Amino acid sequence: MNSSPLLKRKRPRSLQAALPSMQRIVQRFSPQIRKQGALLSLSTIGLFVEVLARLLEPWPLKLIFDNIIVPGASATPRSIPFSNLDPTMLLVGAAFAVIGVAALQAGAAYVSLVGMSLAASRIVTEIRAELYTHLQRLSLSFHYRAKSGDLITRITSDIDRLRDVTVTAAVPLLVNTVTLIGMIGVMFYMDWELALIAIAIFPLFVLSTLKITKRIHNVARQQRKREGVMAAAAAEAMGAIKVVQALSLEEMLEEMFSRENEKSLEDVAKTQQLSAGLQRTVELLVAVATALVLWRGVHLVMQGSATAGDLLVFINYLKTAYRPTRQLAKHTAMISKATASGERIVDLLDVVPDIRDSRGAISAPPFQGAVQFKNVCFGYDPEKLILKQLNFQVRPGDRVALVGPSGGGKSTLVSLLLRFYDPSMGQILVDGHDLRAYKLASLRRQISIVLQDSVLFGVSIRDNISYGSLGATDREIEAAAKLANAHDFIMGLPNGYDTLLGERGATLSGGQRQRIAIARAAIRRAPIVILDEPTVGLDNENEQAVTEALRRLTRNCTTFLITHDLRAATDADQILYIEQGCLLEQGTHSELLRLGQRYAALYKMQAAIGMPLETSMTTCHQ
Ligand code: ADP
Repeated sequence: MNSSPLLKRKRPRSLQAALPSMQRIVQRFSPQIRKQGALLSLSTIGLFVEVLARLLEPWPLKLIFDNIIVPGASATPRSIPFSNLDPTMLLVGAAFAVIGVAALQAGAAYVSLVGMSLAASRIVTEIRAELYTHLQRLSLSFHYRAKSGDLITRITSDIDRLRDVTVTAAVPLLVNTVTLIGMIGVMFYMDWELALIAIAIFPLFVLSTLKITKRIHNVARQQRKREGVMAAAAAEAMGAIKVVQALSLEEMLEEMFSRENEKSLEDVAKTQQLSAGLQRTVELLVAVATALVLWRGVHLVMQGSATAGDLLVFINYLKTAYRPTRQLAKHTAMISKATASGERIVDLLDVVPDIRDSRGAISAPPFQGAVQFKNVCFGYDPEKLILKQLNFQVRPGDRVALVGPSGGGKSTLVSLLLRFYDPSMGQILVDGHDLRAYKLASLRRQISIVLQDSVLFGVSIRDNISYGSLGATDREIEAAAKLANAHDFIMGLPNGYDTLLGERGATLSGGQRQRIAIARAAIRRAPIVILDEPTVGLDNENEQAVTEALRRLTRNCTTFLITHDLRAATDADQILYIEQGCLLEQGTHSELLRLGQRYAALYKMQAAIGMPLETSMTTCHQ
């Protein structure tokens, strides 16, 4: 399937190897980045001015040193700038220059940082919106396989990390790198021999940085993965909290969670330990370079081929270069982490939706509701067919009952009708036209569904109902609730239609939730309705209220009812008995009873027991 890159992509093992990933991330987001071009250019100018100010920092001091403090320190002084100026004037000028350079640096740094943060926030907001829309469009088979917690991590913390790192690491890293290059350039301009000594430690520095950052990157990636697994585990446990509590799994899950949590903590400690080690190594290397420059520099000053001020600039540059390189270690760690985050987002965005509007798809006209399956075959896995050669026809307004053993393919059949998946062979026609000819949204808008355990959102009842048809008026919402037998109990709640529902509607009874779901389906006024065991698990009284609501909902609609309770199938215009993906029997209740095969046997068995037993289906199947 198309999601394989998400699940199987190998991560880069070092910072070097991460470079292509960074390039991929930047390339993928270049439209969003380009949109912030003006802001980014301004910040870049600020950045270069900041670097220039940093380079100028020791120069006033050098002038004072060479001209005022030790004017004759070297035997044969080279020409010294400003040596003909009055010392007092020079001192005043230098003092102002110190302040001016500092102010310039501060101002430029402010512009570049604020500009970059603003641009990064805007870019990240756009990426988040794109990711969210993309996730909504991905097929059910993708969501079936991907863990929702892991997706939530990507949409929240991975994206935040990307933004934070741009501002707190990437910008300073850029400033520092440009500063470093500038300083090396100025040092070579001043004295190539001293400059060579100063950068002699560079290869050592690069080697140790690369080696340690590679390890940091690996640990960081592992930690991100673990966090994703933990979030997924937590989301799963919370989603199934009823089952977890019913089976008393809390302690076991808690233990599992805390084990992962501790491992994640160990990873964090390891990353910190590694980057601290890198910082110390860099410090030591810089000390060695400073000692060498001092040693050779004093000789050069004595010989007269350099001034004391030159030496001062060199030492200052080394010290200033040392500060950024110390941060470099920290920043590379952060950037490695962010690369992993960025990659996860790009991977997700690269998953192509399985089901898309085909080229030339048109907006579906209002349906009459005639449905036809023509030689339809389908398998989630192409190797294993779940539906085999289905052929049937449904007239507008017909009530169709889908019955048969669990796992036979009934839910799969209706998901094909909703175009959650496309058939691997054959055609599904609505009013004589292939579903694929229509735009997805225009097709789904004309189909309502009520599931066994309908999902309600953590918003008000009013909003939950209006999600069936966005923009519905209060009047329409109330009418839908009345049709669904829900109005009275909603009015009995303290806040009526404004009552906020707990997660997944946990504050209501099963029957009440079902009736809100029916109201949501009703407000769509769709010509086709799908009911997937909508009354299972309800007590008698609630079942009656829900059944009544469903009757009203489905009046004049083409209805597909998946049910194990054959009493609900008796008045269907057509019953489809599906077993192991094959349509084995088809007809009305009385026709199938007369046929005297599986349906008849099952019906008699249920009538004898007095209730629908799922096992009775399976028994029959076996
Ligand atoms: P029914 O509704 O008749 O109980 P389903 O259509 O739910 O049957 O399932 C038919 C078969 O397809 C089962 O073997 C089930 O495990 C499998 N199945 C259902 N949904 C998926 C899915 N999203 N991915 C892979 N296999 C699935």
